[in-house]
Amino acid sequence: MGKLRRGLTELLRARNTLVNRRKIVLWMQKKGILKRQMKCKSCDTPMTAVQVSRQDGFHWICRQHRGRSVSVCQGSMFYKSRRSLQNHLEFIYRFSQGLRMRQVDLIEDGVAASSRTLTKMASSLRKVCRRAIHKLRAQGKMKVGGRHCFVMLDESKFSHKRKYNRGRMGPAWRRNKKWVFGILEVSHTTRRPILKIVRRRSTDQLLPIIKRHVKRGSSIVTDDWRAYKRALSEEGYDHHTVCHKRHFVDPGSRCHTQNLERAWQTFKCDVWRHRGNQTTGLLKEHLRVIEWEYWLGRCHRYGILGRLIHDIRKFNKHECK
Ligand SMILES: [Zn+2]
Repeated sequence: MGKLRRGLTELLRARNTLVNRRKIVLWMQKKGILKRQMKCKSCDTPMTAVQVSRQDGFHWICRQHRGRSVSVCQGSMFYKSRRSLQNHLEFIYRFSQGLRMRQVDLIEDGVAASSRTLTKMASSLRKVCRRAIHKLRAQGKMKVGGRHCFVMLDESKFSHKRKYNRGRMGPAWRRNKKWVFGILEVSHTTRRPILKIVRRRSTDQLLPIIKRHVKRGSSIVTDDWRAYKRALSEEGYDHHTVCHKRHFVDPGSRCHTQNLERAWQTFKCDVWRHRGNQTTGLLKEHLRVIEWEYWLGRCHRYGILGRLIHDIRKFNKHECK
């Protein structure tokens, strides 16, 4: 277990005492996800951290304005939340591990008292991930392909597992049932997905997405019947077709598609598990989080947890005043 994870799990195991609450604040400040310095909004002078016996165990006090105090959570995504910082850390930890995120479990374990709170907590973490992946995309860095990998294209409906949400899908959602167009880069070591919701699976819808995200000259693998397969060769891609994706070995890169079906299945299960396919907006959010996991989370020096903390720090800095 990494040092970061060890430090965090220690804090999570500790009982909810004043001393431990203060430890949590100090740890979060050290990681930069709570402010280390605070300025008074009225006089713009640095405030002083003082110990108090309530809530988080610390407050910021302005010496100029006797008695003016603000929460240690000010300027962070945890500000004005009714849950304790320990609860938030627990949620962050589980989110990063993909563990026991079912609402019943979280409520039972005391992370939150209601599903409404949990929904809010999850949605704000998704916002953190979305911001990071949006930045990556805006910088033009979400490009796949090249010489040592191949790119797999596929489309899939993410809405047909009815078991979990019977009666929940409104008529609007059913009518506008969307396809998820997936671009998956496969190399020896990594798998990087780009997932887009599209209305139709036509060449004019999909080709611009492919051109934006896949480097020219890349090896692309698709099923035989794709409408866009001729256009791919015309655009300078090295196109291969397969009938059985499961047993394809690319002669150039020596990569094989054996586990590709499983990769798709993993993404789908992830969305289903979080009930992320109820609305188009929600589905989009979940697809961004999956992209975040593979493009940023798994590549981070300190793993998914490390990247999440990094992105919360950025989020606080730019989005929380
Ligand atoms: Zn002041």
